[in-house]
Amino acid sequence: MSWLKRERTGIKTDRKAPRPELPEGLWTKCEGCGEALYQTVLDQHLWTCPNCNYHFRVPARTYLGLPPEPHPVEAVPTVARETPESSSPKIA
Ligand SMILES: [Zn+2]
Repeated sequence: MSWLKRERTGIKTDRKAPRPELPEGLWTKCEGCGEALYQTVLDQHLWTCPNCNYHFRVPARTYLGLPPEPHPVEAVPTVARETPESSSPKIA
C-alpha cells in the first residue's frame, strides 16, 4: 500500500542555515533611529539611545538599581485645611 509511505514533497527547510539575526536578549532595537544597541551600551547610557537620545522603557528590576533622581521632586506644600464642624454630622 502506498499510503503508508510518506512522499517527500512540500516545503523543505534547511535547518543548518545560520540565522542572520543577533542572539536575542543581548541587544535592543532603538524605536527612535532603528539602531541595534547592546544591553551594556544601554545600561551605560541609562537606557537612552546614544544616537538619537530615545528613552527606552527601563525594566523594573534595573530601575530599582538605578541611583535616585538628581533633583528630587519637590513635594507640594500641604495647606492646612480647616474642616468645618458642620461637615461632620452631629448628633444633638
Ligand atoms: Zn536611537
